[in-house]
Amino acid sequence: MQIFKEIEPLRAFLVEKRRAGLSIGFVPTMGALHAGHLSLIVASRAQNQITVCSIFINPIQFNNPNDLVSYPRTLDKDLTLLNSTGCDVLFCPDEAQMEMSVHSLLNFSFGTLETVMEGKFRPGHFNGVAKVVAKLLHIVEPDTAYFGQKDWQQFVIIRALVEGLRFNVKLQSVETVREQDGLAMSSRNLRLSEGQRKQATLLYSSLCQARQKLKAGDSILSVKEFVNETFRSKADFSLEYFEVVDSENLMPLNNVHEAERPMACIAAFAGNVRLIDNMFLL
Ligand code: AMP
Repeated sequence: MQIFKEIEPLRAFLVEKRRAGLSIGFVPTMGALHAGHLSLIVASRAQNQITVCSIFINPIQFNNPNDLVSYPRTLDKDLTLLNSTGCDVLFCPDEAQMEMSVHSLLNFSFGTLETVMEGKFRPGHFNGVAKVVAKLLHIVEPDTAYFGQKDWQQFVIIRALVEGLRFNVKLQSVETVREQDGLAMSSRNLRLSEGQRKQATLLYSSLCQARQKLKAGDSILSVKEFVNETFRSKADFSLEYFEVVDSENLMPLNNVHEAERPMACIAAFAGNVRLIDNMFLL
């Protein structure tokens, strides 16, 4: 695997590959890689001749400074995993290289897409995400970029970014990879205590039960109350939101049949570790 820490040598390398007619797949990450990230690499490798992964912990997408400080950093292990998955190129720039600043004049706003769920509880988060993804897409110029379904709201916002700015890139969402008990794999899972980890399947089980109840005809309101109640009885966990939305535009639904592809989305704290998950409903 070729490793680049600077933008210009990476660009020069990729220009050559493009000139040779090779297609480029791109997987942006913040490192602490797990099987979820690797499934994106595998998807990219299946469809492209060159797969580029980036590892960059974007400081301006963390609205909570403690979350940034405690975000896991496991570069040696990441390199081993990327090598064994057949990734061709790793781009791991430092902060100076990426020049990310919340104070820069260029800012993104995504209207109603970012006033709900993650956007509502993490002010400024999607502006930070959009700034880094726009910059990375501009640097790598991939044919296709791959994102996990786990961060569905992020995917919808990046789709709006790409369509709005006419980026010449296809976007692909890849199904969430889960632990055996259903917990969505996440770099943040490393920060769970043993006890929290055992109970963390609560997010997934709530989504499964919600889906079952909605399929059986229960109202969204009653299902929301059910999920609220489930979390109320767990001392170590607190529910931040549970929403049933139209997965296309993220608008909350009153009835699952109002949308072609309704989705349930959940965010909860286990101690001070914030976890999210989602599930298509029908
Ligand atoms: P992150 O490093 O958390 O920024 O994630 C980088 C990419 O990996 C994003 O597109 C995530 O949606 C995706 N991802 C994270 N966890 C999973 C998972 N469990 N399954 C599939 N993709 C994932």
